[in-house]
Amino acid sequence: MVSDIFEIGIVGAGVAGSCCAQVLGKAGIKVAIFDHSHPREKPCGGLIDERVVNELHLPEELLEREVKWISAERFKIRSKMSIKPSGFIVSRKTFDYHLLQRALNNASVTFFDEKVNQIEKEEKDWTLRTSKGKAVKVKVLIGADGCPSLVRKNVLRPIPPQFLSMAVGYDFICSNKYIENTFAEDTVEAYYSRKYVQKGGYIWIFPKRTNINVGIGSPEETGKKLKQSLDKFISSHPAGKRLQPLERNFFAHLVPTIWKKEYFDLPCSGSNWALIGDAAGHVYPIGGMGIYYAMKGGMLCGSAILDGDLQLFERHWQKEYGDELHYGAESVLKYYGNLGFVYWLADIFENFRASLHNGQ
Ligand SMILES: Cc1cc2nc3c(=O)[nH]c(=O)nc-3n(C[C@H](O)[C@H](O)[C@H](O)COP(=O)(O)OP(=O)(O)OC[C@H]3O[C@@H](n4cnc5c(N)ncnc54)[C@H](O)[C@@H]3O)c2cc1C
Repeated sequence: MVSDIFEIGIVGAGVAGSCCAQVLGKAGIKVAIFDHSHPREKPCGGLIDERVVNELHLPEELLEREVKWISAERFKIRSKMSIKPSGFIVSRKTFDYHLLQRALNNASVTFFDEKVNQIEKEEKDWTLRTSKGKAVKVKVLIGADGCPSLVRKNVLRPIPPQFLSMAVGYDFICSNKYIENTFAEDTVEAYYSRKYVQKGGYIWIFPKRTNINVGIGSPEETGKKLKQSLDKFISSHPAGKRLQPLERNFFAHLVPTIWKKEYFDLPCSGSNWALIGDAAGHVYPIGGMGIYYAMKGGMLCGSAILDGDLQLFERHWQKEYGDELHYGAESVLKYYGNLGFVYWLADIFENFRASLHNGQ
């Protein structure tokens, strides 16, 4: 039995889904948004750039820490580079919850605290069947269900394994005092040493307010290998040893890492469906950052629906951030491969030039 009919069905209430629902809800469109996991702490460093803060007008209490510096170690050279304009660290539990509540403040948006298990295509509509036995009919289907994506599997095909990276890590629980006494102020850390990350990728240490998110991601390693490398880093590298006494929660998650720019030419939308955020593969391939693209993609997709042509989404996201993703896809294998040293020196030089220019 179909329990209800909606204009739009959004599967996934992460950043992408909530931002899309907010745009549509504000215009009074009847939206159903599904997610079984809220409130949840998505395994994520939670580093956002100023574009996210500016566009979402986030309340200050959501910004757990300002990030002005990245301290990175590569080819045995350690460099502290400034991040301009500053980034911020958020907890994905409070950040995503805030975005979802904003969308739900619009009366036309209905939240289903349920997992979508099955998607059936009819002549014009879609029927979504949930873990709680509901069947909801929607005219337009939006896949904001991250990676791997059930919607993507139904409307296109899954992102191939060669374009997926595994990321594993720990959330270390500690007091804010411990963080302030042990870590440099306003700084995140990254480690690229081949001793720990044999096949490209990096280890990050992102201090938050009362926890430290530490992880390792690589396009070419299995989760088991990555965990072994991260454990080795924590027990032997001076930066890792600071984490040893702390209580920890393990996490593992996939991240799209598209290293062929042509892959971004596959359509992300059809006449009555679209994919946004990680489900679309919209993650910067070099560093694995995806929050900005999920937010912006969600908003652009909502606007395309309001403009009456969902296929406009394609043009809009390509114009807005397509160049960034294409550049990342062209560069990622070189960045982590033989040309890594050249990229590293270029990063250091560029930072030095910028600091001279800014009179630091
Ligand atoms: C370890 C790690 C660290 C990262 N660090 C950063 C970082 O510091 N900065 C950055 O910018 N990016 C980072 N990223 C990438 C970032 O997390 C993602 O790009 C971003 O969360 C994508 O948002 P999204 O809304 O598309 O998907 P998600 O945030 O993954 O949300 C998808 C939602 O869909 C729901 N869902 C899935 N399947 C179903 C279903 N069948 N039915 C109903 N609901 C469903 C899930 O419960 C989830 O809430 C990191 C990723 C990982 C894995």
